Amino acid sequence: MQRSRFLKTLATLPLGALAMDLKAFTQKISSGKTERMPAVFIGHGNPMHALNDNTFTQTVSKIGDRFEKPKAVLVISAHWLTKGSYVADSPNPETIHDFGGFPDALFKVQYPAPGAPELAKQIIKNIQGTQLDHEWGLDHGAWTVLKHIYPKANIPVFQMSIDYTKPEAYHLELAKQLDFLRNQGVLVMGSGNIVHNLRLLNWQNPETTFDWAKEFDEKVKGHLESGNYNELTNYKSWGKFAQLAVPSNDHYLPMMYVLGLAQPKEELKFLYEGFEMGSISQRCFMIA
Ligand code: ZN
Repeated sequence: MQRSRFLKTLATLPLGALAMDLKAFTQKISSGKTERMPAVFIGHGNPMHALNDNTFTQTVSKIGDRFEKPKAVLVISAHWLTKGSYVADSPNPETIHDFGGFPDALFKVQYPAPGAPELAKQIIKNIQGTQLDHEWGLDHGAWTVLKHIYPKANIPVFQMSIDYTKPEAYHLELAKQLDFLRNQGVLVMGSGNIVHNLRLLNWQNPETTFDWAKEFDEKVKGHLESGNYNELTNYKSWGKFAQLAVPSNDHYLPMMYVLGLAQPKEELKFLYEGFEMGSISQRCFMIA
């Protein structure tokens, strides 16, 4: 009798709901451990997006709905370039307004997330050649984006710098060593732009994207889709359009840190694609 009532209840449940419940239930009882976090790449673009409400910021603000809340976020931003690789261990990272010529309102934005000094120390311990930095806070590659993903600023955030003296392939390899963080519930976020040429912004027709920008973004997209990440370290040999799209590699390199974390069975999903001012790609993607 009891059994038949149970089966009847089961039959009235929508199948999808049941599958979801079972998945959540088995995950809970089987592991009790932290969920492995994805790695995301954000094409951050204009710092004003911290205050904007548009299709880009609306997309970014929903990224966090795709996975569990992370224990912390490690950001590799285009705006922290150093000789050598540093990891910031400030317990209360300062919001750095590392730009000029923007409205006062943007300089007033604060992102008071706590830091993650213990995780920073773990990286130093695990990855040879990395060093601690006690000064760096959160540059605008981090906070203009995180303000939308985690507006409450209640998840610890810390940054790792980019050694600008090293070639693309070096960063792809270095990133592989950060994999242990994903199993500890750390979201790794690369923040840059696949196409980034500030000298050729299209002031006359901001809505019109240059052909060379589209061509480069498309070619990168193709290699991302096919998993041919090594070819993405060779973009300098692709021709004139690549030189225009990546005149300096500061905004391109953060992508290497996300791709280096991709495991063979993981999938790459595009989260956003679009351009601003003709010469900046805001393509975003996630690996999980
Ligand atoms: Zn930037």
